[in-house]
Amino acid sequence: MKIKWSAVVVRVACLLLLASPVWAQDLGPHFTKIKDGIYVQTAKSTPQANSNASIIVTSEGVILVDTGQTAIDSREVAEAVKKLTSQPVRFIIDTETHPDHSYGHFLFSPPAVVINHLGAGEEMKQSFDPKRMSTLENQSPEMRAALQGFRLVPPQIEYGDKIVLRLGERTLELLNLGTTHSLANTAVWLPNERVLFAASVAVEDQINTIRPHTNIPDMLAMMKMMKSLNAEVVIPGHGVPTTNKMFDFYSGYLELLLQRVGKLMKEGKSLDQIKQELRMPEYENLAGAKGRIPNTAEAAYRAIKGGYTPENK
Ligand SMILES: [Zn+2]
Repeated sequence: MKIKWSAVVVRVACLLLLASPVWAQDLGPHFTKIKDGIYVQTAKSTPQANSNASIIVTSEGVILVDTGQTAIDSREVAEAVKKLTSQPVRFIIDTETHPDHSYGHFLFSPPAVVINHLGAGEEMKQSFDPKRMSTLENQSPEMRAALQGFRLVPPQIEYGDKIVLRLGERTLELLNLGTTHSLANTAVWLPNERVLFAASVAVEDQINTIRPHTNIPDMLAMMKMMKSLNAEVVIPGHGVPTTNKMFDFYSGYLELLLQRVGKLMKEGKSLDQIKQELRMPEYENLAGAKGRIPNTAEAAYRAIKGGYTPENK
């Protein structure tokens, strides 16, 4: 059979144009296309993965989920938005309160309206450290330039348990994740696209810090809730886009940790002894593990003291 290659090339080109008006690689090497109109500026690995920022394009403007690790990343996100649409950024959803997710807001708000769970603004204001800003500015001339005009932008909208945001053709459900990482954390669920932005409760192939205000049982419950949504794509606060396997990985780690800490507690060991003696060889070589396994052991100790009984498997 004789193939008309020119016709094939034209047809393929047309299909590709229909599928994707802007290629993810046109947005720069740090962007990954998740679905039509949904892009993630994927975390760079430092040794631990930097934070993600995501762009959701709608027919009535753009929604960002977090705004990048540093102001340099945030400016890259602003450039990417301009390439994708002439519409403005209308909303920014914070998955947590920490600087590596929220200090790029000044580039977009106003007019963008920032949303996170109740208490987010208070935590952002209380933890704001001007010294951190001058240290950052002194990192490099590029960072100093990127930080021009910086100001803290806490959420203008804080919601209770859940809020639904509808913009253009998109529906976004914002789900309260309690204090499972910072003091206010939000998961973003797009039920039609089956994409979940899962914040920083769970990470994959690394170990995260657990702060004193966070309870492991709450973390396990939130991971279970997010897993039950059965998302096709799960975008963590840190690390590459994944699936439900991230929740299996991180709850697996925490459950094993609870069991081992529980056993040492039964033997009458003190917290200091437990931190010394606990071994988690399955996880010890992961990024962040050295310093963070003792920290997470402390959280497990707290949970068991508080009445949590680890499941024996
Ligand atoms: Zn954080």
